[in-house]
Amino acid sequence: MEYLTSPQEMQYWANEQRRVGRTVAFVPTMGYFHQGHLKLMEYGRSRADRLVVSLFVNPLQFGPGEDFARYPRDEKRDQALAQMAGVDVLFLPAPEDLYPVHFQTYVTVEKVTQGLCGASRPGHFRGVATVVAKLFNLVKPHWAIFGLKDYQQYVVIRQMVRDLNLDLEVVGRPTIRENDGLAMSSRNVYLSPQERGSALSLSAALKTAQERCRAGEHRAAILLDEVVRRISGQPDTRLDYARIVDPETLEGVEFIKDPAVLILAAWVGKTRLIDNGFLGGYPDCPA
Ligand code: AMP
Repeated sequence: MEYLTSPQEMQYWANEQRRVGRTVAFVPTMGYFHQGHLKLMEYGRSRADRLVVSLFVNPLQFGPGEDFARYPRDEKRDQALAQMAGVDVLFLPAPEDLYPVHFQTYVTVEKVTQGLCGASRPGHFRGVATVVAKLFNLVKPHWAIFGLKDYQQYVVIRQMVRDLNLDLEVVGRPTIRENDGLAMSSRNVYLSPQERGSALSLSAALKTAQERCRAGEHRAAILLDEVVRRISGQPDTRLDYARIVDPETLEGVEFIKDPAVLILAAWVGKTRLIDNGFLGGYPDCPA
């Protein structure tokens, strides 16, 4: 496995792969790897001749008062896991190299960033879209692999790629969960044992809604009512939002006749968790 840190080296490597006709898959991450990251790498590995993983805790996507400074980091462990996953290049850029003094160009994706996490985290998706656009220009992948766990992010990136005619395909992969249903996340380490118990209400509520939808309840308000009650009833838990939305536009759906996504975010103690699941099936990628 090669370690690259400078944007110029990364771009040189990418140009070389394209010159000799090799395909490249790319998994952007903020590190502190878990099975969710490793599954994306496994998929990328199987898809292309070369696999690049970036590890960059992007300051631009954290708001003031968010967890940028304490975001979990363990670079040595991540390096070992990436090596075992068959990663060809681990790209570890320094913030000052991606955002030099006088940096002033940002990517704003408009409609799909307005609601949901975009409403609670102003500027977050601008930070995500900007860094991902930069990374795409450095890694020049044929496929960029994202987890559907961060569903809104996936929609935002896909929209950006479409709108800017970026020459790559965005692939979304299913959410990897702990045995008890909790969606894997680097932020789960923040949870105390009691909070972790409360956090299970997110995946449990989603599962119940999926089952009820399958059994014929297609009214969004009825399904959401139970989700809200279930999550809000847990100790130390505050629901940020729970919505049933169109998978493409993220606009609210009242009656589920086509596939829809139940998407939610909640604070458990000081930790903000997100989760989502498809209702009514999803042809391309079973949840
Ligand atoms: P992060 O390091 O949290 O920025 O995540 C890097 C990539 O891993 C993103 O595409 C995430 O959507 C994806 N990811 C994070 N958690 C999971 C999970 N539990 N299952 C699948 N993908 C995930």
